[in-house]
Amino acid sequence: MLKNTIRTIPDYPKAGIQFRDITTLLGNAESFRAAVGQLAAPYAGIGIGKVAGIEARGFILGGAVAHQLQAGFVPIRKKGKLPHDTVRIGYSLEYGTDEMEIHRDAVASGEKVILIDDLIATGGTATAALALLRSLGAEVIAACFVIDLPDLQGAKKIRDLGVPVLTLITFDGH
Ligand code: AMP
Repeated sequence: MLKNTIRTIPDYPKAGIQFRDITTLLGNAESFRAAVGQLAAPYAGIGIGKVAGIEARGFILGGAVAHQLQAGFVPIRKKGKLPHDTVRIGYSLEYGTDEMEIHRDAVASGEKVILIDDLIATGGTATAALALLRSLGAEVIAACFVIDLPDLQGAKKIRDLGVPVLTLITFDGH
């Protein structure tokens, strides 16, 4: 069972957070392959042009999903990491704010894209990534995550923005 391959670290990076560590899922050949297969399967054969992954764990999953779908891969990165012309957006974290970027020429207007990250919590990160993709004219077909923390209502937030959400596993609480 996929859920059993995820390791939970209590009070990391700070007290009260149950950190859902996917390195154990990634390190297990069967669970890595199963997760990538389940994230990709609904989108096979429908003309997905790009898979966009959110730094850093979204790169690992997104690259493999892109390969599976015979699509390109697009990195959405923390500010200052991408070398060419970018579009940038600010977003809120639990404490403070951060900024992320995408290359301006990474996606064509009207191109079908799926967005990938390891986990959706409050949905702040995915909402910002979605706004970047839409600012380039992408048609975002779905946002896909291995883990959902439904108590934090992030997936609902993305669905309310008109994008279907796929998640494979849920954990109660934060
Ligand atoms: P959010 O913007 O609140 O949806 O947070 C999602 C981002 O923070 C993802 O990139 C996750 O990797 C990371 N994250 C948030 N909460 C956790 C958690 N409990 N365990 C592991 N990663 C988390």
